[in-house]
Amino acid sequence: MDPISFAAATRKGSDGPGWQQLLADAVTDPRELCTLLELDPALVLPAVAAAKDFALRVPRSYVARMRKGDPNDPLLLQVLPVAAETEVVEGFVSDPVGDMDRRAAQGLLHKYRGRALLVATGACAVHCRYCFRRHFPYSEASALQQGWLGAIEHLRADPTVSEVILSGGDPWSLSDRRLKQLTDALQAIPHIRRLRVHTRYPIVLPERIDEGLLDWLRGVRLQKVVVMHANHAREIDGSVREACARLSAAGVTLLNQSVLLKGVNDRVDALAELSEALFETHVLPYYLHVLDKVQGAAHFDLPEARALQLHRELTTQLPGYLVPKLVREIAGAPAKTAVVGR
Ligand SMILES: *Cc1c(COP(=O)(O)O)cnc(C)c1O
Ligand code: SF4
Repeated sequence: MDPISFAAATRKGSDGPGWQQLLADAVTDPRELCTLLELDPALVLPAVAAAKDFALRVPRSYVARMRKGDPNDPLLLQVLPVAAETEVVEGFVSDPVGDMDRRAAQGLLHKYRGRALLVATGACAVHCRYCFRRHFPYSEASALQQGWLGAIEHLRADPTVSEVILSGGDPWSLSDRRLKQLTDALQAIPHIRRLRVHTRYPIVLPERIDEGLLDWLRGVRLQKVVVMHANHAREIDGSVREACARLSAAGVTLLNQSVLLKGVNDRVDALAELSEALFETHVLPYYLHVLDKVQGAAHFDLPEARALQLHRELTTQLPGYLVPKLVREIAGAPAKTAVVGR
């Protein structure tokens, strides 16, 4: 990005309604979503029913990237509650990745050597229908309630941990002040070298990347990695590119993780376009996750053989650095597991 448009981008962050206002204005009523997008009103009732278990939530600027009148829009499919979610499907469970067994302290998941994941908050800017934490008992298991004390103590006592991952929910739902409290505590632990943030904000509410957030990031002395989460090239528009440019300028390494989702990105050209769009945004593709078998998301699932075939074809179309690793999360495994042929 050239200096002039970068200056415009940073200015834009401080004009207009703040991110908290935009978050509060998110669409939560299925009726309104269908009206805005000129969709068949028959979609409303099932959406209302499915939203009882896991509410609809989508920021308006993300809705604006959807195509009107298209019930199969790849962005819409990620957020619209549908009847299939309420069907019970064998093999799809409430905690597919074994999170509840791996709590090292209140809100801290320590599954892998060297890195620990802090469930900093349960709040998200968007509710993704396929989310494997859609049933996670945030109110009892997030670190927030006890002010992260137990989690910080665990991290301090374990010198093997060099990277802390802020996750959730979405950690950037926290105020800049809370983020600073947290990173001040983490920076006081000598063996912690890296801070990683898992967030969808750069994609679904890029206005979150404002001067306040950047001030916080610039003040963090740890090495900084942001793993954002886009599943389709059409999610990446000018506002997303500007937000990513601001993050890069604040010294952040940017990566992306995606979930392979039936109907959303289960074609080689869609995956290739996503990688290209990410690279144009100076973001490298990191992981392509096969779906975690969470109850309510079975309609997004693809056979493993299809996932592998897509990944192999992608490998023949792109340079190696634009091919994300195809992985699955297996409860109890020491790392994400590469999906390979059998
Ligand atoms: C996915 C995950 C990580 C990060 O794994 P990487 O392979 O380092 O990206 C860390 N902790 C937990 C609990 C995870 O689920
Ligand atoms: S933003 Fe992440 S944690 Fe939140 S609903 Fe979407 S996938 Fe789940």
